[in-house]
Amino acid sequence: MRYLESKEQSAELLRLTLPLMVRQAAAYHPVSYTLWYEHVAGINPPLSTALTARLESEEPLTDEEVYRLYDRHVSERDAAVLDHLQQRLQSLLDDTVQTFNSAGEDTGHFSRALRESRSDLTQETTVAKIQQVISRLLSEALRMETMTQILAEKLDGRTQEVKVLTKQLQQAQSEALIDPLCEIHNRRGFLREAKMVLESCAGLAGSALVLADVDHFKQINDTYGHLLGDKVLRSIAGIFRDNIKGRDIAARVGGEEFALLLPHTTLQGAHTVAEQIRAAVARGRIFRDRTQEVIGSITISLGIAVGAPGESLDTLMFRADQALYAAKNAGRNQVCAEGASSQLPLHADARIEPVPREAGADPCAE
Ligand code: GH3
Ligand code: MG
Ligand code: MG
Repeated sequence: MRYLESKEQSAELLRLTLPLMVRQAAAYHPVSYTLWYEHVAGINPPLSTALTARLESEEPLTDEEVYRLYDRHVSERDAAVLDHLQQRLQSLLDDTVQTFNSAGEDTGHFSRALRESRSDLTQETTVAKIQQVISRLLSEALRMETMTQILAEKLDGRTQEVKVLTKQLQQAQSEALIDPLCEIHNRRGFLREAKMVLESCAGLAGSALVLADVDHFKQINDTYGHLLGDKVLRSIAGIFRDNIKGRDIAARVGGEEFALLLPHTTLQGAHTVAEQIRAAVARGRIFRDRTQEVIGSITISLGIAVGAPGESLDTLMFRADQALYAAKNAGRNQVCAEGASSQLPLHADARIEPVPREAGADPCAE
């Protein structure tokens, strides 16, 4: 969504926002600021209602709650804008088709008039009749000219409208389906893409789903602050993006949670991709921008499940989540495949031991 407040207005909003943010437990990160900004600006009534009700308890708002409110009232609002624009574009196109249909009727009328006039002239005729034919043809031609002019003007107007709408639609689409921090699909974008895979591949059988969660991410925020936490998330998203190809889909599906949908991929294939990502993240080092001093590293845990015939995305996600849970329980920084209790064939190497971290600097800079 585009904010329309001027610099002066937004300075006033900043002044109003700060005392509200100070009272909460959540950190001063952009997600949190967006909530308070939209609330004091009065531009997001459902959010204001939810915030006002929540503040009655006088318990400070936590980070988790802030992220949840953001997903519910900011991300979803952007998605509603998208749906609205899509409907407007649809009705504009329907309208244009109707205009063409009525123009078609007029043209039919004109050619009928031409045919009748021609047959009038082939029969024995009088000067008066010829004059009558000429005057009918003139008035028909005049009507056609006006009609074509109106049609051209209408079409011109529609073209402009379609151009504006298409631009707005593209913007809303990226706001609603792409995560602005990590620049990959958000949860909604992921579900939409997954639905398309489901339709085009006639189901999820033989497609692999990988769910990943950053290990002890809260510690990163607590130790280095949310801004660095955000940079770490961006770097991890970059690693996901770099390790997929073709129709694979990478998404940030929650605060520090990522998902990969790998169409037509075996458990073994998905395992290789997940393991590459895990190792690349573990190799990375968090370092201070200015001094290049290494200040830490980060790991992720991943769970894999492969779709069974007729399986829904929900149950596939549930199974991958269980595998992720197993990876966490087994000590984190590892890949687990959903397996033992399911009917899926489990490869001997589907579950791996943690790989010792290798030296090397990379992707996250403070
Ligand atoms: P575990 O290994 O069990 O997953 O531990 P964890 O600390 O990663 O898990 P927990 O669920 O306790 O904490 C997740 C944290 O992620 C808490 C929340 O503040 C943080 N978080 C969620 N979204 C964002 C974000 O967009 N930016 C930043 N910086 N932090 C986020
Ligand atoms: Mg988590
Ligand atoms: Mg975590």
